[in-house]
Amino acid sequence: MQDWPLLVHKVLDHAATYAATREIVTRGIEGPIRRTNWATIHQRSKTLAKVLAKRGIKPADRVATLAWNSERHLESWYGITGAGGVYHTLNPRLFPEQLVYIVNHAEDRMIFVDLTFIPILEKLQAQLSTVETYVVLTDAAHMPATSLKNAIAYEELLKEADADFAWVELDEKDACGLCYTSGTTGNPKGVLYSHRSNVIHAMAILSADGFGLSNADTVLPIVPMFHANAWSLSFSAPMTGAKMVMPGAKLDGESVYNLLEDEQITMSAAVPTVWLMLLQHMEANNLKLSTLKRVAIGGSACPPSMIEKFEVNYGVEVMHAWGMTEMSPVGTLGSLLAKDRKLPFAEQLKIKSKQGRPLFSVEMKITDDEGAELPRDGKTFGHLVVRGPAVSSGYFKGEGGNILDADGFFDTGDVAMLDADGYMQITDRSKDVIKSGGEWISSIDIENIAVGHPAVAIAAVIGVAHPKWDERPLLIVQLKPGADASKEDLLKFLEGKIAKWWMPDDVAFVEAVPVGATGKIQKLTLRETFKGHVLPTAGSAAAE
Ligand code: ADP
Repeated sequence: MQDWPLLVHKVLDHAATYAATREIVTRGIEGPIRRTNWATIHQRSKTLAKVLAKRGIKPADRVATLAWNSERHLESWYGITGAGGVYHTLNPRLFPEQLVYIVNHAEDRMIFVDLTFIPILEKLQAQLSTVETYVVLTDAAHMPATSLKNAIAYEELLKEADADFAWVELDEKDACGLCYTSGTTGNPKGVLYSHRSNVIHAMAILSADGFGLSNADTVLPIVPMFHANAWSLSFSAPMTGAKMVMPGAKLDGESVYNLLEDEQITMSAAVPTVWLMLLQHMEANNLKLSTLKRVAIGGSACPPSMIEKFEVNYGVEVMHAWGMTEMSPVGTLGSLLAKDRKLPFAEQLKIKSKQGRPLFSVEMKITDDEGAELPRDGKTFGHLVVRGPAVSSGYFKGEGGNILDADGFFDTGDVAMLDADGYMQITDRSKDVIKSGGEWISSIDIENIAVGHPAVAIAAVIGVAHPKWDERPLLIVQLKPGADASKEDLLKFLEGKIAKWWMPDDVAFVEAVPVGATGKIQKLTLRETFKGHVLPTAGSAAAE
């Protein structure tokens, strides 16, 4: 067979040739909706690649983006990689010190920035020693006065060349993209995707058991391109030439709802907190969905109550997804096996609440502390380890040393169960597991049930020190605006739904549960806040 390197710009060539007029729609930061198509995106990406090459961007040079999802952001990725460079996504929700660390560590030569984020970079630029040029993702008419070094509007930059450019020749194993994990502890670490890993991952996710995309789909990636490679949608959608709709900066329930209806979206992907806002908006205004068929939900556990609402109230299929930056990022997706499609909904809901089955190319097992494989029996918990062509083999510049075991498996840092059918269920991050009397309690299970209480907006469960049991669960709750519930109400709601010894020893109410840069509950912060919390059960136990 021929040696046809798996390069991401071949995906764009394909979309431009076979879906030339299929649209890409963007809710612009400047306000109005913009419309373009795959042929134009292709031409403009080629133009950008030519400009970057003329400006001295060489293969493997890193060019960063600090931007919302837009057609210009998409062109930037393809233009950068087409010049042989590496797109490096910066997450604007990170702390300024983390951004400085990441840009310097990556040695970014240019940063493409949205209007919204100019103030962040103006404050930091004195510390960003490798950045030579800032490109503002707008046109001359909207270009603000800025102190950013060599600042130029994106549309002006494109005027520096035409589209007559041959993509730079590369090996499929050459670097393509760079994304840092948010690093809840220690410095963020870079995951460097190759062209090959991005293409293989996108092909794997396209199957009907994955995102199941076709040219007839209209895809709304709400998951930002600055987080975890946008769950591959920037590559998998153009592989089919689907229509794409880029939401820009507005991710609130009303804005998302309007896009879903106005653009007739059929598939979308986002973290649970985004879907929560949409569901609340639709419930408050008695709205329905007319075209949406499937949503992928992941990044943190999707509560069963959310799956049920989508499927029963709105007729939308939920694909619960699990993955991580180190896995390109999707590892498992919750499509049902043939035999389970005949089950009553209540039984299916139990399965769909698990994190799904591995995509092709993801090998997966659970192990004990010594690395020995544990049974796939649906009840044993263990460390979830993975291997595959789209799984990281180490961090950028070797940070963190060797991250693989002797057989080449990467420890995800998650604790999970696998069942005989291959469904995987995350029970916790390994650092969040609650260890009570030598046994493990899954915080995610309790949270999933608690959030089903009508008054609860967000629920978090952490382990708090206990004199007898080492740790016991504390349920921390953020109520919905205007809603009311007591500690007793919530405990009663949990009763019978979880094992007795998993019942939280106490409930604490907070104004806002802290949520991090990628939509995850910040357990570290909660553990700090509640470090001295004395459980009502602690006194009696200490006296025993
Ligand atoms: P970060 O947000 O830390 O930069 P990732 O987005 O890569 O990094 O986060 C990956 C982690 O998110 C996983 O290891 C897992 O703990 C958690 N996660 C992702 N999807 C799910 C899910 N569906 N259910 C539970 N946890 C999830």
